[in-house]
Amino acid sequence: MHTIYADNAATTKISQRALEAMLPCFTDVYGNPSSLHTPGQKAAEALWQAREDVAACIGAEAREITFTSGGSEADNQAIISAARQGEKKGKKHIVSTAFEHHAVLHTLNRLKKEGFEITLLDVHENGLITPGQVADAIRPDTCLVSVMFANNEIGTVQPVKEIGAVCREAKVPFHCDAVQAVGHLPIDVKELNVDFLCASAHKFHGPKGVGFLYAKKGTILTNLIEGGAQERGKRAGTENLPAIAGMAAALKDAVAHMDENAEKISAVRDRLIEGISAVPHCVLNGDREQRLPGNVNFCFEGIEGESLLLLLDDKGVYASSGSACTSGSLDPSHVLLAIGRPHEIAHGSLRLSLSEENTLADADYIIEAVEETVSLLRGMSPVWRDLTEGKKPFVTEE
Ligand SMILES: *Cc1c(COP(=O)(O)O)cnc(C)c1O
Repeated sequence: MHTIYADNAATTKISQRALEAMLPCFTDVYGNPSSLHTPGQKAAEALWQAREDVAACIGAEAREITFTSGGSEADNQAIISAARQGEKKGKKHIVSTAFEHHAVLHTLNRLKKEGFEITLLDVHENGLITPGQVADAIRPDTCLVSVMFANNEIGTVQPVKEIGAVCREAKVPFHCDAVQAVGHLPIDVKELNVDFLCASAHKFHGPKGVGFLYAKKGTILTNLIEGGAQERGKRAGTENLPAIAGMAAALKDAVAHMDENAEKISAVRDRLIEGISAVPHCVLNGDREQRLPGNVNFCFEGIEGESLLLLLDDKGVYASSGSACTSGSLDPSHVLLAIGRPHEIAHGSLRLSLSEENTLADADYIIEAVEETVSLLRGMSPVWRDLTEGKKPFVTEE
């Protein structure tokens, strides 16, 4: 059967380059980077090289990079660090948005229980927030602004540089969850005015379970894990060198081919958006222009996203409905609710997230599969019958 993997926002396939960079770390370079003997020093050198490579890809210095177990840990550490510094000065207010990843939202919830006040900015219907909203929300007691670079569900790309400028002007630290952007969009931490920026290797064809936190020099980090003096004493535990080396290789590769990949991927995205838009009563989620090259997200009226996914799986199309973290729960996606999609259609969402392996022919196959499946499901749906018989009003246009 012809199969198409279109769930790259959930995770990507590891690249050959990344895999090849990892293998020697399981065999030759197996030493502990903290050991003083030769095998240890060989590992320490490989670790340093990976740190330099990762830093160079985002315009940072090697000492500004802390390796973590992934995007979630990096987000947690950035937010907790800013909160601990803030509370020392009596500043316990944080500004963020309603459509952040749960790694951010749940960390903010924990702080709220400790007495922090959290302002979650409303997201416009197009999936964007404005620098002006951030400026208006900042108060004298604000200790952090946290806004994601690109949304993992609807792919919208925020005006990060402008938000960074607002934060710098107000002297408030700025954290950016850039997990969906790193390796896909050009990033220069100096230009963006970020104090903290987080990334995860498995979103850019690196291995799972590894990521990094960029923290601008001078920023004080709070440990989430206590123990040895690894990562300048800020993240204990023997470094996962194979994963770190794989991440560095994957990121270098992604940055080297960024423009050509983006061009290829966005052509497939545009074909999909155009083709799927022809299905009656569906709506594109997220701004048409300010979106990741590989993100397509639609709501279809009168169907359940889960049924759509299962039938697409039967046709060899591997996609997602909402985020991987929320699938399995019956609540509609908090992101779709944040952009004002009513419950009725927030349940009928489909996210296709592409990589450079996807082709225009894949797009044509997916469009046909989606058309067939949506009309099959609508044919069996009592909700759809009520809508077409006029017993309930449509919330989308034909
Ligand atoms: C995947 C993702 C994360 C979590 O990264 P992990 O490495 O899986 O922990 C955080 N934020 C965003 C936007 C993501 O897409």
